[in-house]
Amino acid sequence: MHLLTNNTMLDSWRDVAGPCVLVPTMGALHEGHASLIRQGAALAHQNNISGGCLVSIFVNPTQFNDPADLARYPRTLEADSAICQAAGAAAIYAPHADDIYPPGLAIETPPLPAVATEPGLEDAHRPGHFAGVCQVVLRLFHLVNPHTAIFGEKDWQQLQVLTAMTAGLELPIQIVPGPTVREADGLAMSSRNRFLSPDDRRRGLSLSRALAAANRQAMPDEAEREMSRTLKEAGAEIDYAVVRPASSLRKSAWPPVASDTRWRALIAARIGSVRLIDNAPWHS
Ligand code: AMP
Repeated sequence: MHLLTNNTMLDSWRDVAGPCVLVPTMGALHEGHASLIRQGAALAHQNNISGGCLVSIFVNPTQFNDPADLARYPRTLEADSAICQAAGAAAIYAPHADDIYPPGLAIETPPLPAVATEPGLEDAHRPGHFAGVCQVVLRLFHLVNPHTAIFGEKDWQQLQVLTAMTAGLELPIQIVPGPTVREADGLAMSSRNRFLSPDDRRRGLSLSRALAAANRQAMPDEAEREMSRTLKEAGAEIDYAVVRPASSLRKSAWPPVASDTRWRALIAARIGSVRLIDNAPWHS
């Protein structure tokens, strides 16, 4: 496995390796990331994508709306390398900030698709977040020029935003989703879970419990009430707990005009000082 720590190394690797499957991450890798990397390596193999799976590791400052969150974001490159190697990555691209944002060069932020500004979910609770995400992913796309990029369903709105951005810019890159990996008790894996105290970790299970409870309700408004009840009972501070059409995420009348609408239940909530997000299909 190659460790590429600047753009010159990336360019030389690409010249030899050819097209690749990109898995963008911010590091502090866990089994959720490992599963995306295994998926990327398998996809490259099946489709004769010669470069295999490239994992990028870059803690992107422009997508953090909370400076404290950025300052304490875990940086664990050595452990990350071992996980990438075991999961079958061909290379890691772990650039310095100057490689992504060269001093004096304005890095384009693309026009944001509607799903990044209209739903009132992450867009409302983390202002500027999707502008930063789109900026860094577009920059990575330009630098790496991947055949395919894989993003986790764990960040459902982000997956919709990047799918829409790529389509809107007519980039010749396939966006492929990867399923959410959970701990045995249902907690969605996240780099931020390590900040949960044992008690908060137990309370964090209320998110997956709330998503399961939502699926026992027949109507979206009942499902939303049930999610809020479950989360509040556990002492979680709710940013949102909603049922929305899975790709537009727009507030929508029920019953839906298009009967083939797929639905998604989505939650963001604070447990102590840690903000957790999770989502699941709703009745589909
Ligand atoms: P991050 O490093 O948190 O920016 O995440 C990098 C990629 O891993 C994103 O596409 C995430 O959606 C994905 N990811 C994060 N957690 C999980 C998980 N538990 N299961 C699957 N994918 C995940």
